[in-house]
Amino acid sequence: MDMPAKKLGLKERYGLLTRDLHWDTTYQPMDKVFPYASYEGIKIHDWSKWEDPFRLTMDAYWKYQAEKERKLYAIMDAFAQNNGHLGVTDARYINTLKLFLTGVSPLEYMAHRGFAHVGRAFPGAGARVACQMQSLDEIRHFQTQIHSMSVYNKHYNGFHDWQHMHDRVWYLSVPKSFFDDAFTAGPFEFMIAIGFAFEYVLTNLLFVPFISGAAYNGDMGAMAFGFSAQSDESRHMTLGLEMIKFILEQDPDNVPIVQRWIDKWFWRGYRVLTLVAMMMDYMLPKRVMSWKEAWEIYAEENGGALFADLARYGIKPPKGWAQACADKDYLSHQAWNVFYNYGAAAPFHTWTPSAQDMDWLAAKYPDSFDKHYRPLWENYTEMAEKGNRFYSKTLPMLCQVCQIPMFFTEPGDPTKICYRESEYKGDKYHTCSDGCKDIFDYEPEKYVQSWLPVHQIYQGNCFERGTDPTAEGFDPLIAVLQWYHMNIGRDNFDFNGIEYGKGSEDKNNFEKWRAMSTGNM
Ligand code: FE
Ligand code: ZN
Repeated sequence: MDMPAKKLGLKERYGLLTRDLHWDTTYQPMDKVFPYASYEGIKIHDWSKWEDPFRLTMDAYWKYQAEKERKLYAIMDAFAQNNGHLGVTDARYINTLKLFLTGVSPLEYMAHRGFAHVGRAFPGAGARVACQMQSLDEIRHFQTQIHSMSVYNKHYNGFHDWQHMHDRVWYLSVPKSFFDDAFTAGPFEFMIAIGFAFEYVLTNLLFVPFISGAAYNGDMGAMAFGFSAQSDESRHMTLGLEMIKFILEQDPDNVPIVQRWIDKWFWRGYRVLTLVAMMMDYMLPKRVMSWKEAWEIYAEENGGALFADLARYGIKPPKGWAQACADKDYLSHQAWNVFYNYGAAAPFHTWTPSAQDMDWLAAKYPDSFDKHYRPLWENYTEMAEKGNRFYSKTLPMLCQVCQIPMFFTEPGDPTKICYRESEYKGDKYHTCSDGCKDIFDYEPEKYVQSWLPVHQIYQGNCFERGTDPTAEGFDPLIAVLQWYHMNIGRDNFDFNGIEYGKGSEDKNNFEKWRAMSTGNM
């Protein structure tokens, strides 16, 4: 009679799932089967030294995820059935979700593709399986975010064509180009860019503000997807950290390559977070904390400890670190100013901060707000109230690397716009900072190919087919917005209305529906 099989522990089962499914190929040489494993210069001598960060077998994985999924959909159903969209603080909040859906959710999908791709590229079985698991998590994040936010699409403007917008709208080229840059790098660089710099160092500055912002402003739907992703996030952070330590321990020649990637991807990630900074300080009706406070906790404290830990490998804090810390007093104000100016060309609403908002900002930013930004907002408000809500109709110059309009200021001088210039094959290229210039100068052949929205508009590449720019009364801005699939007059302009003070459709509907649910109108 057969003895019943001994039950294996999780570690053994994970070992069978990974190492036991690995073999060295013989019909084809290994370097032809894994063609991307060596060209970046990273030397790996022994993949068996890889420590598995996930240790989840497939059956356990599906069981955990299914359980989370059940809870998430129960909350989302309850939210929709109870008209949860009327329970948020006010309709300004909803604009943060438009930013998230068009700017962040498509990146989750790219993360899904990216981890599937690098998972295929590593000759080590442990790393391959861990990347495959993360790839599955990422597509789940993408789907749960779309489902959670879909309820808003029934009631508010600007949610209708987010993927199309992600591919075309000027400021969305900032997050899009960030991920495209990582996705087109080699597998080890992708892991340092996304697994380490993004998931480990910067993710708390993206998700915590959005998700606690959702909780603070009464959005159970977005809060639920955030919590549902949280346990995945901790696995992703473990993978990012394991990857960097593994690479650094394998060969001392890897250290300078990794250091350059850390410098580059810290700066690229930090630039994308500009959108989060303005969201926290200007777009949330009820604020969680200021950008500056978040930076101090999640970057200066946590990041400081991390780089102290990595110092034993010879790794230094990222090159742009000190500048990012110094810029925390200015970042959000400069960014919201740009969106306020270009509020006719973005599929969400902008507004000036109220007197109460400005007092909050002054308290949080004692060294910069009253001096540099309060006079600006007071001037804009006064103009708008007199019927002259200002919209810029010119197009800004963009940074060749991060693709953000050139509004950042010189280190140490918040009144002087910073720009840097490089030359490549006889052409001049402009960048917004020393950080972006370094990135450009190291790989100019990559960044000269950037699809810069402003250049593309001026070249006439951003109009619907059949548009005739020579027709009488042709308005290039309107034509571009049509190409973005924006509903002009509904998705864009001031929260307070095209005719200032009359209210945007979102604002008016929200107030009307809320009054209906609490009174007898
Ligand atoms: Fe994710
Ligand atoms: Zn830049």
